[in-house]
Amino acid sequence: MEYRAWFQCINEGCGAVHPLNQIIYRCERCQSLLEVRHDLEALRHRSAAAWMKLFDDRYRSNQWPYGSGIWGKKEWVLPNIKDENIVSLYEGCTNLFWAERLGKLLGLSELWVKLCGNTHSGSFKDLGMTVLVSQVKQMISEGAPIKAVACASTGDTSAALATYCAAAGIQSIVLLPKGKISTAQLVQPIANGALVLSLDTDFDGCMKVVQEITKDPTIYLANSMNSLRVEGQKTVGIEIVQQFDWEVPDVFIIPGGNLGNVSALGSGLLMMRELGLIHRLPRIVVAQAQKANPLYRSYQKGFAEFAPVQAEKTLASAIQIGNPVSVQKAIRVLKQFDGVVEEATEEELADAAALGDRTGMFNCPHTGVALAALIKLVRRGVIQKQHRVVVISTAHGLKFTDFKVRYHDKALEFPCRHANPPIELPPRVDAVKAALDKALRERVV
Ligand SMILES: *Cc1c(COP(=O)(O)O)cnc(C)c1O
Ligand SMILES: [Zn+2]
Repeated sequence: MEYRAWFQCINEGCGAVHPLNQIIYRCERCQSLLEVRHDLEALRHRSAAAWMKLFDDRYRSNQWPYGSGIWGKKEWVLPNIKDENIVSLYEGCTNLFWAERLGKLLGLSELWVKLCGNTHSGSFKDLGMTVLVSQVKQMISEGAPIKAVACASTGDTSAALATYCAAAGIQSIVLLPKGKISTAQLVQPIANGALVLSLDTDFDGCMKVVQEITKDPTIYLANSMNSLRVEGQKTVGIEIVQQFDWEVPDVFIIPGGNLGNVSALGSGLLMMRELGLIHRLPRIVVAQAQKANPLYRSYQKGFAEFAPVQAEKTLASAIQIGNPVSVQKAIRVLKQFDGVVEEATEEELADAAALGDRTGMFNCPHTGVALAALIKLVRRGVIQKQHRVVVISTAHGLKFTDFKVRYHDKALEFPCRHANPPIELPPRVDAVKAALDKALRERVV
């Protein structure tokens, strides 16, 4: 069977189409974003049951590249890529953590956390970057004059771009807001040989510059306004449903910044419904930091209007974005998925991340934002005991040790309720015994 995919303008009234090997990020006619569309009629020649069997057979297998969470679903993602051009680091197939203890604490019978950070560069950005860099490799092999691939980043996109480009032997360029990303995030692209440009601005400022420099067709744009990224990231929802043996959970909670990821989540779930793998849609909750909450403000007005904001400094640095590029796509998804947008203060996100850690996770601050939203929605009765809830954890906590150290040192501007600082003692058995006696009397895990 011939499967086909192409770029299409998201503006229904326009619908301009372009091939996937064209260097284009916005519609030339109306300036809207593009999305990748698939020939669903062709995909329907295989039954829903046969797709599920194929995806299950490939899942985590050693048959390169189909054991990857993305390339195991190749026909739904990038059907016309040649296997020799695929740049895969075995992304996806991440653990769906059963958050049994945290769920019980919150009065939920089923809480799950999808650990997207347990992957090559430590964040979900790998899911989209494998697709984008593979397509670039294919375009270069066809003679496209691409010299480098560039992105603006709050830290994780640049880490993913740099590692996939290094694996492929393609030069990467990353534009980072100076002093606004974690040490681990900064050192990743440096180590992988990216050209690292540190600009004295915020993410929105870097995004403006990268859109200008990628008007030069020899520098290809890797931000999620390039919908190839969304094609990879859309597998996350499909993979979660697969991990539930093809049953749809009731609620997804996902932290949102530039809003590419929630658009991707919705897109994958809609494709599953179109092709008959599922018959109902879950509810989707986007969680934003209060310091960078333009979507939350728009939601309060029923999405009747949207206004960018000046994002303020937040511990959730990867979502410190005031002017999200994918806002239109995200609102379209939220309208179809009975969407909710919730926000979290700095104290709420830090305490929620730490509470989750105490039940066996190791959360990044963005996952903290999602967990804080969960706690608030349970309290308000929007999420109820019988709901099967999945929180999408977007990065590994080890990328954000600065945040964790400051929390447990109580060096933040709020009480840090779950801080667990080390007890400093002289190296004497009696002192250690006395301290343990006291601590074990007082402490409940
Ligand atoms: C990029 C990122 C997000 C936000 O995703 P968007 O697609 O920008 O909404 C959330 N958490 C982490 C850790 C990220 O790196
Ligand atoms: Zn258009």
